[in-house]
Amino acid sequence: MIGRVLIAGGGIAGLALATALRHRGLDAVVAEHTSAPARSGAGLVLAPNAMKALHSIEPGLAAAVRAAGRPSGVRGSTGHRTPFLDARGRELGRVSFDGFEERWGQPAVAILRADLHAVLLDAAKAAGAELVPGFTAQRYSGDSASIELVASDGRGLRGDVLVGADGLRSAVRRSLVGPGEPRYRGITAVRGTGVAPEAHPDGFIAYGRGIVVFAAGVGDGRVYWVASMAARRGEWPRRPAAEALRLVRDRLCTWDPAVRQVVATAGDAGCVVTDVFDRPPSRTWHRGRVALVGDAIHPMVYTLGQGAGMALEDAAVLGVRLSTAETWESALAGYAAERSARAAKVARQSRMLGRVAHVRSPSGAALRDAVLRIVTRTTGGGRQNAALFGWSPPC
Ligand SMILES: Cc1cc2nc3c(=O)[nH]c(=O)nc-3n(C[C@H](O)[C@H](O)[C@H](O)COP(=O)(O)OP(=O)(O)OC[C@H]3O[C@@H](n4cnc5c(N)ncnc54)[C@H](O)[C@@H]3O)c2cc1C
Repeated sequence: MIGRVLIAGGGIAGLALATALRHRGLDAVVAEHTSAPARSGAGLVLAPNAMKALHSIEPGLAAAVRAAGRPSGVRGSTGHRTPFLDARGRELGRVSFDGFEERWGQPAVAILRADLHAVLLDAAKAAGAELVPGFTAQRYSGDSASIELVASDGRGLRGDVLVGADGLRSAVRRSLVGPGEPRYRGITAVRGTGVAPEAHPDGFIAYGRGIVVFAAGVGDGRVYWVASMAARRGEWPRRPAAEALRLVRDRLCTWDPAVRQVVATAGDAGCVVTDVFDRPPSRTWHRGRVALVGDAIHPMVYTLGQGAGMALEDAAVLGVRLSTAETWESALAGYAAERSARAAKVARQSRMLGRVAHVRSPSGAALRDAVLRIVTRTTGGGRQNAALFGWSPPC
């Protein structure tokens, strides 16, 4: 019998899982290492499968995310397109969002991370989750009756099951799977918000050699943007934000004015610089009373825009398994069986896309652009996403 679930990490996966569990009658305790969330300029796009996961956890949660962000492909709406550009602003193709909600059940939603976090936190609180801020999970120990999560300051929390939702460098993962650094994928990402260009108010993806600039409209004439670049590990994150921004602007100085504008209008304050990592697929998703979700088990290169999507799918599936299985053993085994192949496949596709997108050689970039032209012409950028967006949440 499962009564109380401990969750290490109050990020996207942890808060969503806490809400899922509370709505299904289980106690959820979220131990989060920060005391208050940071307000950064970073954003993300939640694909229709991510939105379906939220809706299955609690319909009001998906509605709140739609209200806080900018949905594309809402039922009955038309005309929302993301152009694929080259560095000079010439259009290589475009992806249409028309019919997303009709086809996939939900639109895609671009949202600032801080706004998504606020929605998830409010939902977890309203559902009655117990939140423990300032708790840095360090290790756990279990016996036949329960499991204890121990913080770096010695505090302990006890429950029936522990879920590691503590992100890329998960402490729970380290105890469960063993030590091992994530793999740097040769890409660094500089992120911020800026003014939406008149030519592309909903955003764009612009491809250069070894650099890609992505922007997505988040409302009020603003876009969040990511400039991702082939780089050596640690080269960019050690720079102050102002210097990173200046260098990105320098690298874009010959680019199309619409692309330059989004970076030119960003302030240092919300600028985030991160190297991009993933991990090889892990066979160990759970052991004993402990399981992993989200980036703790399957961090992925961001280019497919599915890391948070997979984290939310994990939360939706684990929430159902923990609340319906007869035993915690069968709940965790069922969760891993349902999730591992899909997450591994999406991580693999993300890594491949990241490599192709950031190709540096002139011939490689020309080939990439030619492929983009063909792909967007033949599929409208939609059909190849059926495997991703067509995911069905558990009942
Ligand atoms: C540049 C970039 C762009 C991206 N764009 C997208 C996108 O468009 N769409 C998309 O779906 N995904 C995107 N992603 C991926 C997405 O951000 C992640 O996959 C997602 O945040 C994973 O959620 P999570 O809850 O597993 O981890 P996190 O969001 O990292 O949350 C982990 C939480 O655990 C806490 N924590 C860490 N250690 C401890 C500890 N020891 N004890 C207690 N708490 C701890 C952290 O403070 C944090 O709150 C992007 C990633 C990057 C880098």
